Order: sequence, then C-alpha cells, then structure tokens
Amino acid sequence: MERINFKGKFIVKAELVLLTGLHIGGQDNTIEIGGIDNPVIKDERGIPYIPGTSLKGKLRTLMEYYHEKIDENKLVWVKKGEIKIHMCDDKDCPVCNLFGRNHGKHTFVNDENKMFENLMPTRLIVRDAKLIQESITDEMRNNLDTSYTEVKHENTIDRITSSANPRQNERVPAGARFKVEFVINVYNDEKVKYLKELITAMKLLEDDYLGGSGSRGYGKVKFENISISFRDKGFYLGISDEKELKKLNDTTEKIDWESMKIE
Ligand SMILES: [Zn+2]
Repeated sequence: MERINFKGKFIVKAELVLLTGLHIGGQDNTIEIGGIDNPVIKDERGIPYIPGTSLKGKLRTLMEYYHEKIDENKLVWVKKGEIKIHMCDDKDCPVCNLFGRNHGKHTFVNDENKMFENLMPTRLIVRDAKLIQESITDEMRNNLDTSYTEVKHENTIDRITSSANPRQNERVPAGARFKVEFVINVYNDEKVKYLKELITAMKLLEDDYLGGSGSRGYGKVKFENISISFRDKGFYLGISDEKELKKLNDTTEKIDWESMKIE
C-alpha cells in the first residue's frame, strides 16, 4: 500500500424529500395479527428510516453505470445468485475508491476467483437517514393508514392460473423528508475529487428511484437544503473550526469547485 496522508473529511448534510411514496422493505410481519405483508423498514420506535446501506448501494450502482464499469463477467457476487457489484483493483477507479472494496476472496459472475487486497481506504460513509417527523403534517396524516405510512393494495394477476394475488405494499408517503448525512474522507491531494463524485451520484439518483417498485413510480426523490463543510486535521485536534464551504437549495444550483478551498 502506498503512503496515505489523511487530510480531513467533508460533511455533506441534506434533506431527502419524497416526491412519490417510498418502499424500502423491512421485516415481514404477517404473523402479527393485522400485520402488513410487505412492510417498510422501521427503527426500534416504529418510525420508518432509510438505511445508509440502501442509499449507498443505490448510489454505487448508479455510479457503476455512469463510469461504464458494468461488464457482466467482471461483476463479483456480494450475495451469490442475488446481488452482484463492480469491484476492481485499479487504484484510480472512482467507484471502488469512493464506495469501497471488500478485501478478501471474491467470485466473479463467470466463476473466476480473485483475492482483493485492501488498496485504498473507503472514502464514503452514508449514515442511516432519519425521518423528520414534522414533515408528516396533520393533513397528510388524515390520509395515512398508520402513523407514518400508507398501505397500497395492489393486485397482480397470476399469468397461468389467472387468479388475483392481492398484496399490500406499505409506503412512506410523498412529502415526507429524511435527514441524510454523508462523510467523505480526503487523502493526499484529492481535494474535492470525490465530493464531486458524490454530488453527481445524488443528481443521478434524482432521475432514478430509491427503494422498490421504481418502475411503478415509487421512490422518486429530491435533495434539498444541502450543506457542505470540511473538517481538517486541526478540527480533530480541537484547534480549528469546521469550515462551512457551501449551501445549496437543491442540486440544480451551480457549484464553483475552484473556489472550494480546503487548505
Ligand atoms: Zn472499480
């Protein structure tokens, strides 16, 4: 491993606004009386949230396509037969450097094996996104089926038997807002390189979808009230302040990257 100098961390905070209902699956609770057969994931208080891993996984996939890293035989299984991702040992790969590599032995889709070494540390950390409870207004609540969610009844028709298969889908409603937080580690002379990648990924997500049933219109999201700051080494020593770099109403605002000095 080459010498790596830690320079600091970007902290990117934003509100993720749901423009359509969001379904990120949680534990099935049909065994409970009156349980919903396809519930959304909730925290220990029963409040829906967006797991950092779900958000990070989606952003990674979008960036794999954006950087043209999808080569079917070169994908590795994260979960055999189910989830495959791009992973490589190109030390300049923007996807692997930002989102990370799982070091150790991995199997490609074409059954070849490879040992991945821990080349560079992962840059991006995505926190679990908590629901901003006030974003669920009284007016919205009047139309909800539970305190925080709506339950959509959907029928799928079995193509062979023609029998209807009614299914309930729990969703967090449009208008709900979540607090998201990203942390990007900065090493060597990278400066804003990976921050730029993150902003690109956020914009790509807005023109895609988060969670399940995106092709049926679920999961359209938008980022608002974005703040970008930088914590240098001095911040962690208690001798300098966090540097506020930029505030954006949304991702359509232009960013003058040249002016974003972190040293
Ligand atoms: Zn890669």
